Amino acid sequence: MGTPKNLAILGATGSIGSSTLDIVRRFPERYTIRSLTAGRNIERLALQIEEFRPALAVVQEEAGRDRLRSLLPGDLDIELLWGEDGLAAAAALPEVDMVVTGVVGAVGLMPTLAAIDAGKPIALANKETLVMAGEVVMARAAAAGVPILPVDSEHSAIFQCIGQHPRQEVDRLFLTASGGPFRTLAADRFDTIRPEDALKHPNWSMGAKITIDSATLMNKGLEFIEARHLFDMAPEKIQVLVHPQSIVHSMVGFVDGSVLAQLGIPDMKGPIAYALAYPDRLPLGLDYPDFTALANLTFEPPDLKRFPCLALAMDACAQGGTLPAVLNAANEIAVNAFLQRRIGFPDIYRVIASTMTRHGHQSRPNVEQIREADRLARTMAGEEIQKCNA
Ligand code: MG
Repeated sequence: MGTPKNLAILGATGSIGSSTLDIVRRFPERYTIRSLTAGRNIERLALQIEEFRPALAVVQEEAGRDRLRSLLPGDLDIELLWGEDGLAAAAALPEVDMVVTGVVGAVGLMPTLAAIDAGKPIALANKETLVMAGEVVMARAAAAGVPILPVDSEHSAIFQCIGQHPRQEVDRLFLTASGGPFRTLAADRFDTIRPEDALKHPNWSMGAKITIDSATLMNKGLEFIEARHLFDMAPEKIQVLVHPQSIVHSMVGFVDGSVLAQLGIPDMKGPIAYALAYPDRLPLGLDYPDFTALANLTFEPPDLKRFPCLALAMDACAQGGTLPAVLNAANEIAVNAFLQRRIGFPDIYRVIASTMTRHGHQSRPNVEQIREADRLARTMAGEEIQKCNA
């Protein structure tokens, strides 16, 4: 096994970060922590620092950095930074062997690029990075010879099914979706949905933003774009299937008509561990699905009328350019406004759709143009939110 792998965990206090640290705790001979980053959960980060002893920790704001310092023992040997530059430093730290990108949203893009430029393999949980800048990120990773290992459970499933099969034998991706908590809700009831209803996911335990994205099916839309880039697959060769049992995590169709699926209970420790240990498998001790207790595994097409966010994302994927970044930015702003009860559930779609309509589309953008489109879209989405309440 050799020396332990040194990890940087971006978004250490979130759902992915905490599950990653659970794995590190169980396999201390395989993993050590070199850098941890968090947004605003300073108290939890302080506890993680005392347990895992990273060389560097990063938080979102300067005041948070000062508060973190006050919570740590005075004699602790650690560097503390804040902001976007700090995130990039955490990702590019010289002794780091792999970067886990567990942050949520557009904030993941720049540190992922910093990790690629520093030659660090990436365990990618931040799907927004590929949604915003999939072409740029994949091209830069390929040029640098940096592997990007998917942590998103669907993409991990596809990655596992493809295995060593050559690209030209892979014909189709079947992306499964649980359907979220409103899979069977009548269309005329959607305007009654409150944040606490949407935060109850039937199968997966995740952070607030991705749980709302799962309820609108935007999460599957973002994953559609993510799959398009990760596996270099044309959008018309990616099929979304609603599979409420969440046992089949996704499937791959090959040129001979054969389909391989990856199955397991819904637990993010599986895909995280697969990315961390690849090509090994860790003895996680997770239960197998109880096949005799499962009455059936069902698959149905998504209802794009009741879940129009998925259609928006598929359209953004087909058009490409800056449009996926605009979709993503407007979605982040709209989800936040819904969580703060400033707009209703169906308004999430309206805000994103009208922001996309107003956006001046740019094909083949560079990173700076993508970031500018992201900034403009956030402003426009804010204006659209005002109109919802006018
Ligand atoms: Mg997923």
